[in-house]
Amino acid sequence: MALPTRQHSHARTNSRRSHWKARRLSLGTCPQCEATTQSHNACPKCGYYRGVKVDHTIKEKSEK
Ligand SMILES: [Zn+2]
Repeated sequence: MALPTRQHSHARTNSRRSHWKARRLSLGTCPQCEATTQSHNACPKCGYYRGVKVDHTIKEKSEK
């Protein structure tokens, strides 16, 4: 198996990771309940996604 010839420096590792950073969440508003939601995700408040109820966890929690 091929192995690296030598250990590379912390600077090399860190410069590679300089492009590795967290991005801000893209937020939108729910058309159903107007709550702030993360884009491309079901609404955490009402469980609707693109006009369809998809989140079953909210109902299960309220039943207990
Ligand atoms: Zn909603």
